[in-house]
Amino acid sequence: MPIASVNPATGETIKTFESLDEAQIDDKLQRGADTFSSYHRTAFRERESMMTRAAEILETEKNDFARLMTVEMGKPIKGAVGEAEKCAWVCRYYAETGRQHLADKLIETNAKKSYVRFEPLGPVLAVMPWNFPFWQVFRFAAPALMAGNVGLLKHASNVPQCALAIEDIFRRAGFPVGAFQTLLVGSDGVQRILEDRRVVAATLTGSEPAGRSVAGIAGKQIKKTVLELGGSDPFIVMPSADMQEAVTTAVKARTINSGQSCIAAKRFIIATDIYDEFERSFVAEMQALRVGDPLDEATDIGPLATEQILKDVDEQVKTSVAAGAHILTGGKKLDRPGNFFPPTVLANIPHGSPAYCEEIFGPVALLFRVNNIDDAIELANATTFGLGSAAWTNDPDEQEHFIEELEAGSVFINGMVASDPRLPFGGIKHSGYGRELGEFGIREFVNVKTVWIKE
Ligand code: NAP
Repeated sequence: MPIASVNPATGETIKTFESLDEAQIDDKLQRGADTFSSYHRTAFRERESMMTRAAEILETEKNDFARLMTVEMGKPIKGAVGEAEKCAWVCRYYAETGRQHLADKLIETNAKKSYVRFEPLGPVLAVMPWNFPFWQVFRFAAPALMAGNVGLLKHASNVPQCALAIEDIFRRAGFPVGAFQTLLVGSDGVQRILEDRRVVAATLTGSEPAGRSVAGIAGKQIKKTVLELGGSDPFIVMPSADMQEAVTTAVKARTINSGQSCIAAKRFIIATDIYDEFERSFVAEMQALRVGDPLDEATDIGPLATEQILKDVDEQVKTSVAAGAHILTGGKKLDRPGNFFPPTVLANIPHGSPAYCEEIFGPVALLFRVNNIDDAIELANATTFGLGSAAWTNDPDEQEHFIEELEAGSVFINGMVASDPRLPFGGIKHSGYGRELGEFGIREFVNVKTVWIKE
């Protein structure tokens, strides 16, 4: 796949890049390893001030970074500004808490003193997706660099300019050149990098096939991985929920980032007593969304990031409809330049159709009617994914039942699933393993060293 910036709203190629050759890759890996040997000894206060500086750069230049993201992958501009701000937040969060999350942890035993010390591992490869081209990278890089590791970014091939801009932010913040490097290579370059002895671990955010491949290579090399893969998050609404708030949040949860979010609510599971009312209001609010130029502040839904994603979404919807699903609104790609797919709602989704069992990475909502809470939970869990989940009910017993039974990395009650630097983020089942963010995230790429000193 070529490494190229193509504006998804117009189809115009903005810039193309040559993939790094063998010698260039080798140089970067060596620089990473050399930098690690001194960087991991830097004092926390030094890392804190560089990470705070990175936050300041993100805050000051957020509009420029937002424009870059929007032009390169089509994200509506208001969301892009928010993304740059959130990256600043995660940098500040780890600048302020990294030292405390990684402080020695005393454990009483028969020894005079025993404790756990957290030590960095080395150069970590991050294989990242395009959908949140800044946020996905910063939520890896901020904790990894605060812990004393160095980062090697292999970003998605359609966002090379974002990848280079992020490298530049860390440099300008004062981090040494080898502390964070972008490697412009396609996915076919990952194996060679991951097999290199200088790379000690990897994190991948992306699709299930990519996760399987990277975890397989790393496994053979006995290198640790964190995988953040796809999702098909349920959004359950029970009769006691606040209907208007549930509908408005449901629309946002499905269409954020033009529907291209791993934790977007994808399956709306509605109790039968309130189903008809929910369906009516939900379809009306989906129809009211503005599709158009992502640089326009008023736009809710921009183009999908690539032509291939547009084709995939169109095909998944077509096949599901051919199998018997009903289109309540939208349903096929728009006849205009750019990768535009309208807000779409499908109901009566047959078992086995793509809409039933696959992740749809676009603004396509799936409605399901259930008789009771047990049916809701059964349907919610009937997926190979287990990333996030949301349940809407004001009944405390039902809330507890959902928290207990939903098979997912997170359960949000009366809210939409969202990432937050303070809370761990990740999935179970085929959504991956390991956690990012919070104190769990910063401890993924560290050696948990046990220290025992005799009486
Ligand atoms: P993707 O095709 O898997 O690409 C993600 C990254 O993996 C890109 O850098 C890609 O490089 C690379 N890659 C692809 N195949 C590879 C392989 N066989 N070996 C090594 N690297 C490989 O995913 P995407 O379409 O960009 O992103 C959408 C998917 O990511 C969705 O499933 C979504 O749910 C998931 N996602 C998950 C999270 C989470 O936190 N759980 C967050 C965001 C997205 P190239 O671009 O060069 O192909």
